[in-house]
Amino acid sequence: MAGEPQADCLFCKIVAGDVPATVVRETATTLAFRDISPQAPCHVLVIPRGHYRDAAALAEAAPEVAADVLREAGAVAEQEKVVDSGYRIILNTGAGAGQTVFHAHAHVLGGRGLNWPPG
Ligand code: 5GP
Repeated sequence: MAGEPQADCLFCKIVAGDVPATVVRETATTLAFRDISPQAPCHVLVIPRGHYRDAAALAEAAPEVAADVLREAGAVAEQEKVVDSGYRIILNTGAGAGQTVFHAHAHVLGGRGLNWPPG
């Protein structure tokens, strides 16, 4: 069922505390933690605590939590002091776009120049 924890999901394990992560912010509905393979000085993942396969599925099933994720992404950028220099919120959706973990997550990237278009 949408939102229910999945036994084989890495990010559900992080939410449960079964896999360690460096948490930088948390709310009742979201968790924000540092990416294990940072691609910029600031690289934080913001996830819903519930399991949804991607951002579109999250927005469809729980739009209020999707809004929480975006609000927290902005709060992470402020906390990480990357607002003035600019930052990017990335929602990779589908394997062809680089999604490797099928639990919705927003990448917050900043602290260096970010090219456009992205690779
Ligand atoms: P995606 O490629 O699905 O958009 O993003 C998944 C992200 O999760 C990648 O940037 C990857 O580095 C990160 N990641 C994968 N395994 C772990 C882990 O065990 N801990 C943390 N903190 N990040 C992870």
